[in-house]
Amino acid sequence: MTSIESFDFVVIGAGSAGCVVANRLSESGRHSVLVLEAGGSDRTFNIRVPIGYGRCFTDPKVNWMYEAQGGIRLLRRLAATRPLADVIAGELLPGSDAQTDDALLHDFRQRSGTVYHPTCTCRMGPDPRTSAVDARLRVRPPGIDDAHRD
Ligand SMILES: Cc1cc2nc3c(=O)[nH]c(=O)nc-3n(C[C@H](O)[C@H](O)[C@H](O)COP(=O)(O)OP(=O)(O)OC[C@H]3O[C@@H](n4cnc5c(N)ncnc54)[C@H](O)[C@@H]3O)c2cc1C
Repeated sequence: MTSIESFDFVVIGAGSAGCVVANRLSESGRHSVLVLEAGGSDRTFNIRVPIGYGRCFTDPKVNWMYEAQGGIRLLRRLAATRPLADVIAGELLPGSDAQTDDALLHDFRQRSGTVYHPTCTCRMGPDPRTSAVDARLRVRPPGIDDAHRD
């Protein structure tokens, strides 16, 4: 079996960034690249159909199901390590008083919202009369009828 030390590069995670990085590192053919992915296959119905992604939020087959409170606690641990800790005066929001899951959830609900992806919520194409962004994803000037936006 080939050992990990024999690879020029090791990429952890075959997600959006990991796949691009592995592809660029390996494309010359001069370097060996090992990609380590902890998750399973994404060849599932809900991944393939455009509207299916909403179901991926609650499907443990394609979702690690981590909760946001754990993310805050991880960030706090990272912020407490040097050299980062040396330049942080204190936590502004939600603030060190918010420690329990309930307190953190309360804060998320007060301050979070939804966003639209700039490219995936509007029509793309070469015709300015029917598309909001061009083929290079540049947003067209104002004046386009909202009816053309998906
Ligand atoms: C439902 C949904 C819809 C989205 N829609 C859009 C969209 O329309 N347009 C858009 O631009 N963005 C979209 N995004 C956001 C986009 O998918 C993410 O921003 C992007 O995938 C993040 O890339 P990443 O490489 O940082 O992480 P990921 O793509 O999440 O890759 C991380 C990888 O690392 C693996 N991994 C984790 N821990 C380990 C470990 N210990 N060892 C090995 N592997 C590990 C994970 O399994 C995963 O494969 C969407 C996200 C979601 C959840």
